[in-house]
Amino acid sequence: QTVFDILTIRKDFPILNRKVNGEPLVYLDNAATSQTPKRVIDTIVDYYSRYNANIHRGVHTLSQEATDAYEEARNKIQKHFNASESHEIIFTSGTTHAINLVASGFTSLLNKGDEIVVSALEHHSNIVPWQMLCERTGAVLRVIPMDLEGKLVMKEYHNLLNQNTKLVFCNHVSNALGTVNPIEEIITAAHKVGAAVLIDGAQAAPHIKADVQLLDVDFYVVSGHKMCGPTGVGILYGKEAWLKKLPPYQGGGEMIEEVTFEKTTYADLPHKFEAGTPNICGGIAFGAALDYMNGIGFNAIAQYEHELLEYATAQLLTIEGLKIYGTSTDKTAVVSFNIEGMHPYDIGSILDKLGVAVRTGHHCAQPIMDFYKIPGTVRASFSFYNTKEEIDILVAGVKRAKAMLE
Ligand code: PMP
Repeated sequence: QTVFDILTIRKDFPILNRKVNGEPLVYLDNAATSQTPKRVIDTIVDYYSRYNANIHRGVHTLSQEATDAYEEARNKIQKHFNASESHEIIFTSGTTHAINLVASGFTSLLNKGDEIVVSALEHHSNIVPWQMLCERTGAVLRVIPMDLEGKLVMKEYHNLLNQNTKLVFCNHVSNALGTVNPIEEIITAAHKVGAAVLIDGAQAAPHIKADVQLLDVDFYVVSGHKMCGPTGVGILYGKEAWLKKLPPYQGGGEMIEEVTFEKTTYADLPHKFEAGTPNICGGIAFGAALDYMNGIGFNAIAQYEHELLEYATAQLLTIEGLKIYGTSTDKTAVVSFNIEGMHPYDIGSILDKLGVAVRTGHHCAQPIMDFYKIPGTVRASFSFYNTKEEIDILVAGVKRAKAMLE
């Protein structure tokens, strides 16, 4: 039972009308980046057509309008994630930038022998910055293992925690498999040993509305481009106490209170972490994207996407030799699969000829692929603007690819 008017929603996305290789586009690579509704595109055009100016400094009207719109977007994001203060929302260029900001900040707070826990289900952007932090500080990386269903082995997680654990990092949803991780349990247990927790919400944010106060999470990071916004903008949510404790990430304009050659004092939050001219238009457009998604409603989105997931899973499993990786019952609308004896890249290339966009490869999560002893998968990831008819086209395409490659 469809809970909202999918045809009306599809009209909001101009790109869905285009053809690829002579076929109507079937866009199933939403976990990599989502498409942009007209309302967000209009916001971008309006910004550059009417009030493009630098912010926080000019006395002139355009600068004030741009500053107001940018700060209003920050307030929208605060409200969306239920942060208690708007200055707990730091604009970044995306999830990767936000994680690096925190990892860099912890350099002066860690000592040799401290432990950092990450999960086996992480994206490379939630592994590499912590490895670099370990190299700088002598801290040790510990890994929460995963099981064959693509779920974290929580018993092992609890065994890993001890008085030396200073930080825990985990994604809310795995980009490669779609598994929703038990972050409430992860956060509560980490806090019991006094460790701070960063949750990578890049894959969760398009489907699940996280409440950072309810979660009591220390840091939560997302990218705008995965939730109907433009690329090049994202946020770091951080608890005020942590953001005050961490040193600035980059030095430059905007982040200072007073500069002399003897000593510089830093600006208050959030500006302390926002050196240089930010992606002003991107921030404003991110706010518009949240308005758009909230207009549809996250409950309705989750319910509809779950229908798509169940339908796609059932249809794909009718294909002989097809194996799905990530079989947790708590999943977002991602199906990662392979067909026995066939390379994911070959399947993806044939699908592209048919107008179907999927991702193939290791999905920036090589440790997961190593765990399953595979080079990669074909990943179809669905959004609320996809339809069951598009899934039928995908399934027919996979059957055709199989027949061609056999
Ligand atoms: N973490 C996860 C779970 C992701 O899926 C992604 C994007 N694929 C990232 C981090 C990195 O996000 P970005 O490239 O927008 O910085």
